[in-house]
Amino acid sequence: MFDVQSIRNDFPILSQKVNNHDLIYFDNGATTQKPQVVIDTIVDAYTKTNSNIHRGIHTLSQTSTNLYEQARRTVQTFIHAPSDKEIIFTKGVTESLNLVAQTFSEAFLKEGDEIIVSAMEHHSNLVPWQMVCERKKATLKFIPFNHDGVLDIEAYKKLFTTKTKFVSVVHVSNTLGTVNPIKLLIDIAHEHNVPIMIDGAQSIQHCPIDVQALGCDFFAFSGHKIYAPTGTGVLWGKEEWLEKLPPYQGGGDMIKTVSLEKTIYNELPFKFEAGTTNYVGAHALGTALRYLMNIGIENIQKHEAELMAYATQKLREIPQVTIIGNAEEKAGAISFLVKGAHCADVGMILDKQGIAIRTGTHCTEPIMTYYGIPGTARMSFALYNTKEEIDYFAKILSKIALMFE
Ligand code: PMP
Repeated sequence: MFDVQSIRNDFPILSQKVNNHDLIYFDNGATTQKPQVVIDTIVDAYTKTNSNIHRGIHTLSQTSTNLYEQARRTVQTFIHAPSDKEIIFTKGVTESLNLVAQTFSEAFLKEGDEIIVSAMEHHSNLVPWQMVCERKKATLKFIPFNHDGVLDIEAYKKLFTTKTKFVSVVHVSNTLGTVNPIKLLIDIAHEHNVPIMIDGAQSIQHCPIDVQALGCDFFAFSGHKIYAPTGTGVLWGKEEWLEKLPPYQGGGDMIKTVSLEKTIYNELPFKFEAGTTNYVGAHALGTALRYLMNIGIENIQKHEAELMAYATQKLREIPQVTIIGNAEEKAGAISFLVKGAHCADVGMILDKQGIAIRTGTHCTEPIMTYYGIPGTARMSFALYNTKEEIDYFAKILSKIALMFE
């Protein structure tokens, strides 16, 4: 049974008032709130078990190491990875994407080669590729999308040439809410023998992920968008690829032996985890994922799909509101415009009523350029949101829409 009220009780931040109103938190695409179990994990770690991992023989260090490696296995289970060696802890999806862009291009990209991304990428899956393409004199190509915010698959197929070396695409657009057909995108890339990475920043918290069933080569996500602390993230990669890539950063833990002349790198996953990692954060990420597995990610998906449908309907009932992104399959986020109003003004007025949404470009400036708009207002959902919150939001938004008419 999915009981949203009891879930809400797990999130202490939700019961406060903001600007003298009950907080309605619709900014989950930017970051999610944390359940008490995750907060407790962090407090417990610093009050009971804190010690640096992997290099201590004393009890605390071993406990801390065990908790870290247990979290790695939890991530493995959560995304159905075949091996925990393939789970790299990072500080977030941005670092995961940069890691692959830099190490892959260092090893495999040469002048004249081509990389494919979509035109709806978050800047963190665009700028790293621009940087490496500039450095290597390679070309970045873009999968276009149509006015509904749907990728053009026929155009994607035509982008491949013998020079295509890598594809990196977002699973769910943080701005348009579009759920991209990644299985299809993966299969097409593989028909051309090209590896593909999925930016799962906005999918991991909304739908079940099975990296083996998907068949992608890399999958990346951030912890803070899935009820875990900031500064945590994951890169999953197929072992064969991770073995082939050079290390990302040098330092402690990523080495097997070091002499003044030469270093032998550590095995996976440690080869990519240089220095002291955010091991307390990783441990709390494990707690967050176990919390979600207890509730059932399919139950969360169903609840959020109902919220998306309900909110879409409510927004459509306000004549001055236009939804940006009308793909058939959407998850997590709805972007919209209010006639005559700047999105920042809409956000500020909602805030006065205790409603938190995000406004602006959402780190997807090319999407704004495509639609010829400066930004959007975006509401984005989590497992603890309710239809009552949407009702209240819609009531206030209707008033705002009339004000600006
Ligand atoms: N990709 C997508 C689709 C996102 O929504 C975000 C965060 N808004 C990122 C990447 C970057 O995430 P982070 O800042 O946690 O690294």
